[in-house]
Amino acid sequence: TESVSVATLVDWLSSFRDAVHEQGTYLTELDSAIGDADHGANLIRGMDAVMGAVAGEVSTVGSAGDLLKKVGMTLVTSVGGASGPLYGTFFLRAATATGDATSLDAAAVLAMLRAGLEGIVARGKAEAGDKTMYDALAPGLDAFASALESGRDVLGAAEAAADAAADGRDATEPLIALKGRASYLGERSVGHIDPGAASSALLLRALADALAA
Ligand code: ADP
Ligand code: MG
Ligand code: MG
Repeated sequence: TESVSVATLVDWLSSFRDAVHEQGTYLTELDSAIGDADHGANLIRGMDAVMGAVAGEVSTVGSAGDLLKKVGMTLVTSVGGASGPLYGTFFLRAATATGDATSLDAAAVLAMLRAGLEGIVARGKAEAGDKTMYDALAPGLDAFASALESGRDVLGAAEAAADAAADGRDATEPLIALKGRASYLGERSVGHIDPGAASSALLLRALADALAA
């Protein structure tokens, strides 16, 4: 895999939509333990709205930025709760990073993902170990960067990112939540995987799946 087209970005979104459908019950179970039991439903609603909004984007030869901006706007407007604005901001910042490009090399994919994560941090102020989606995304992007540095292609980097994000997801289990609804539980949040970390691991796995297809 050398460069990533807008069509492949749509495949990424479609793969994430499929994943949140498949894992929706699990995501909601995680959120019922330390939140309000809506994370799966929130993302299913959001990604169904996204795929409705971006239908036809490829045939109209939009840029990556046009596509990702539409994704972000749709998530912000269709998903209530913390995750809508956070994932929405991820894609809005990712859109700004890709701009007019219609194909992305590996470095541009990394820049896109990093801009998205910076948006999440700007919006939610999460730090490492706060038991949020940051704890899956940040190690995922670090692994993506390391893989590129060691000469792997964009698919290899995305696979490394997905693996590291899954490890980061699992590592949220013993943590005390310090951001979002789960933080209201204090010590009682210990012993549960963070739902947003679980969905973020799916987001990076979906990217690897789209690149492999
Ligand atoms: P809500 O908690 O409003 O019902 P969701 O259930 O859809 O929203 O999403 C909850 C997830 O959002 C959490 O598991 C966590 O990963 C993420 N989250 C919440 N607050 C923050 C924050 N300030 N920064 C980063 N992620 C956050
Ligand atoms: Mg919730
Ligand atoms: Mg909610």
